[in-house]
Amino acid sequence: MRHLDEYRDKDLVQGLAAVIKTEADPAKIYTLMEVCGTHTMSVARAGLRTLLPENIRLLSGPGCPVCVTGVGFVDAAVAYARRPDTIVCTFGDLVKVPGSSSSLVTERARSADLRVLYSPAETIPIAKENPDKLVVFLGVGFETTTPTVAALADTVVREGIGNVNLLSAHKTMPRALRALCTGEVKLDGFLLPGHVSVITGLSIYRFVPEEFGLACAVTGFEAADILEGILALVRQVNKGEPKVENAYPRAVAEDGNPKARALVDRFFQPCDADWRGLGVIGGSGLELREEYVFMDALKAHPVEVEEPVEPEGCRCGDVLRGLIHPTDCALFKNPCNPGEPMGACMVSSEGSCAAAYRYGGGA
Ligand code: SF4
Repeated sequence: MRHLDEYRDKDLVQGLAAVIKTEADPAKIYTLMEVCGTHTMSVARAGLRTLLPENIRLLSGPGCPVCVTGVGFVDAAVAYARRPDTIVCTFGDLVKVPGSSSSLVTERARSADLRVLYSPAETIPIAKENPDKLVVFLGVGFETTTPTVAALADTVVREGIGNVNLLSAHKTMPRALRALCTGEVKLDGFLLPGHVSVITGLSIYRFVPEEFGLACAVTGFEAADILEGILALVRQVNKGEPKVENAYPRAVAEDGNPKARALVDRFFQPCDADWRGLGVIGGSGLELREEYVFMDALKAHPVEVEEPVEPEGCRCGDVLRGLIHPTDCALFKNPCNPGEPMGACMVSSEGSCAAAYRYGGGA
């Protein structure tokens, strides 16, 4: 197939669902987890769970970058937004995420200078137009996003721009996968994120089948892509031969994108990171290297941050670990909804709660 529309073809999708039904052993329960916000939304939008046999449980894990970003990060972003000498630049999904006592959207209403960007590169003209202000970019995202933030750091260094700082909550996938492999939910396999894999390649996932015996399929984002990934997992489980299978070869190369990784490695080093729902995972985050500490907001321009407080009653952590479905949260729909979100999973356009609200049917 050459065209994207072909991967949405109804007959193809139904045909794949039928093959999965035929090949799934009725005596087994297949517990599969996707770890990608785009998969979460695609599965819900296409109603894929309704096409699968009942013994295939497709869970959504911690794949939405905004959802896994801890309350402490939002509190720090709010603290920067409250500084009169600071402009905060962010992607739109973060704006409504509740912190301990405020959010960026609340601070904007109180006169904070908050800029919503589509690309980290848009930070540069803002910094040049406002030389007397500190411009803090909120870096949130997985391996897919980090190269674009490394490119921002590269421009800052090359052009000698002195007023851009980064507040980094960047995370990497392997340590979180390891935590999930030993978590409360017994999994049989992972649908792995196609766009992360475009950068990383396949080798970062090898430990999953080798150490934990779980099936893995790197998967694209159309309905047929996702069903192909599920079929690959079912076949691996049936044969008892777990491996890392590339079910998205039109976009993902075995070795990923070494150039993008080199750019990230030049500016970032691993650090511990706080994941909503999973807690602090050693070595699962990225911080600026020592030589670029002048761009690290928390080190160059530290702010006082209160002890983080999770939104009362919000069960995002349990949703992100696959322990409950969003509709199991007592706050789902009323009072928590996209207009008045109480937790990050309802705010983000990739969040499980937002997907369940919008499309129903088990996001
Ligand atoms: S429905 Fe709202 S309050 Fe409940 S887990 Fe989801 S985001 Fe949190």
